[in-house]
Amino acid sequence: YHAKAAGRNTYQFFTQKMNSAASHFELETSLRSALAQSQFELHFQPIIDIGTRRLHSLEVLLRWRRPGSGLVGPDKFIPILEENGLIVPVGEWVIRRACEQSMEWKRQGLQPVPLAVNLSPRQFMHRGLVPAIRRILDDTGIDPALLEFEITETALMQQGEQTLDILGQINAMGIRLSIDDFGTGYSSLAYLKRFPVKKIKIDRAFIKDLERSAEDRAIVAAIIALSDSLQLSVVAEGVETEGHYALLQEQGCQFAQGYLFSPPVPRVNAANMLERLG
Ligand code: C2E
Ligand code: MG
Ligand code: MG
Ligand code: MG
Repeated sequence: YHAKAAGRNTYQFFTQKMNSAASHFELETSLRSALAQSQFELHFQPIIDIGTRRLHSLEVLLRWRRPGSGLVGPDKFIPILEENGLIVPVGEWVIRRACEQSMEWKRQGLQPVPLAVNLSPRQFMHRGLVPAIRRILDDTGIDPALLEFEITETALMQQGEQTLDILGQINAMGIRLSIDDFGTGYSSLAYLKRFPVKKIKIDRAFIKDLERSAEDRAIVAAIIALSDSLQLSVVAEGVETEGHYALLQEQGCQFAQGYLFSPPVPRVNAANMLERLG
């Protein structure tokens, strides 16, 4: 037993912990001023109609232009915003900015396509959400049929009757709802019937090995069959190869999203996609 080595290991352990605590603290501190300093921006990823291979809608994906760090992806900062509650104002900003963008494109004469905005669990449970959405629809004048919200299974399962009530109110405004990352949460199928949801997005974990794995093909086929019988649309996430595309087409999947078509892109590039539609 080498006390010295053990001491060194403990020391390393603590410095690692302290460094990661410090960088978390730094991240959190700079996130607090990011909204006021206009450091957030929206990127857009096409969702393709498998039948026609044309653009159907765009998913809105948040990015943080952090000074000195370049473009930061949401996996790095959404969990922190969830933790400290900042997701509420930031999430509201995303909805507003998406609606403004849609109206801007409309004024430019571009073909209107639905924009799908992600809602996080904490944002979804916040009492101010529904009134905020109403205000944004009012202020921007967007056609609610051009707005969609994506909510994960896990978020939907966290609350009981309250969830149903909020979903009902959003649905009543004419905004479509879809279940994101389908198959990775509880996958309780009962709620598909109870909730006013119009679309499910199959998590990319099931698409990744579609060409190699008979199990994944069976799971995807089952989800598509289930959605068909409940009259829900289906989007496959993470479509990266022509092989994925062909299999999904064969199985009757309606929509696809993934690097095969495009990664998420800034608004100028998204506008170009809309231009090509017209
Ligand atoms: P998500 O809603 O499931 O979005 C899809 C994620 O998969 C995006 O990551 C997208 O870039 C990535 N992706 C798309 N196609 C492919 C592909 O072919 N292969 C692979 N490997 N990945 C692909 P991104 O933009 O990093 O976003 C990650 C997550 O962050 C999103 O997952 C969503 O849950 C969350 N998020 C993003 N924007 C917002 C937002 O405005 N509000 C909230 N609450 N969450 C957001
Ligand atoms: Mg999503
Ligand atoms: Mg997803
Ligand atoms: Mg996800």
